[in-house]
Amino acid sequence: MPINLDALDYIEAAAHEIVAHTYTAVPTAGPAPRTPEALYAWSEEVTAHLPAEKQQIRYALTLRQSLEHSLHAGDTAPVTSVVRYESCPTCRCWGLMWSRADWVVLCANRRCHDTVGLPSRWSLQEICERHVARVAALQRTAT
Ligand SMILES: [Zn+2]
Repeated sequence: MPINLDALDYIEAAAHEIVAHTYTAVPTAGPAPRTPEALYAWSEEVTAHLPAEKQQIRYALTLRQSLEHSLHAGDTAPVTSVVRYESCPTCRCWGLMWSRADWVVLCANRRCHDTVGLPSRWSLQEICERHVARVAALQRTAT
C-alpha cells in the first residue's frame, strides 16, 4: 500500500502545533515525546495546572485537529455535528454551515454579513473554542 505523504505531512504539522502550543503555555514543559499518542497525553499532563480557560484552548485545538483529521479522510459528519450545535457568534441564529470549498464556517442568515456583503465566517478553531467553552459551561451548571 502506498504511503499517503499528504497525510503524513498533516499528522506531522498537527504534532508540531501541539508541541508549540504546549511550550507557549508551559515553557518549562521538558522534552516532548515522539509518538503522537504520547504527545497528546504529555500536553494534557503538563498543562493540567493551568486555569480552565487555558486548558479549554488546548481542548479546542485537539478537537479541531480531530475534525480536520476526519475532513482529510473525506468525512464531514464530525464537523457538521459540532457546527450545528453552535449558534452564530454574530447574529445568534442556528444557521452555521461548514463550507467544504473554503474550509470555514459560514452563517446562512442573509442579513449576517461582513462589511463587503460576504457571509459572516469563522475558522474551525474559533468554532471549536466556542464549542468547548459552551460544553464546559454546561458541565459547570450540571454539577
Ligand atoms: Zn450570523
